[in-house]
Amino acid sequence: MNKQFKRMVKCDVCKMMIDIDKSGNGECENCGWRQSEESFRHPNVAGIRNIPALNNAIKQYNNGGSATLANFNDFANAYRNYGEVEFTLDHTRYGLLFDDIENKIALLNIQTGEKQLYSDIDDFVSNAKLNGILLNDIWENVTNTDFLQET
Ligand SMILES: [Zn+2]
Repeated sequence: MNKQFKRMVKCDVCKMMIDIDKSGNGECENCGWRQSEESFRHPNVAGIRNIPALNNAIKQYNNGGSATLANFNDFANAYRNYGEVEFTLDHTRYGLLFDDIENKIALLNIQTGEKQLYSDIDDFVSNAKLNGILLNDIWENVTNTDFLQET
């Protein structure tokens, strides 16, 4: 990164001062938000450098919650807009990605390799279950959401 292009701005979520590069990208050490002019221009779109949409991240942070943890709706939208995403529930990481062989969306238990298949993202949103409980109903227990990291 060329130093002369570095600027300091306020984090869009928590308002702490952060360094950004010439593209307007940076990461907030306080709240974890990945600063992005693109997400600033589209504050209701999930999956732009962050899983939550900016407006939801602000709402959550101001309510004492996490700026980087996505609600179930933003998580599904991040998949729609970006593709591969992951979440952590009960200390287990799960990936959501397209399975080219099955031509379906796979919910993958990254630890065990166990896979559930869904015909599309709407099928996933309505029907995805873990241990017999709808994911939508246990989403409040999710402790991390991110773009899919190495499995
Ligand atoms: Zn911040």
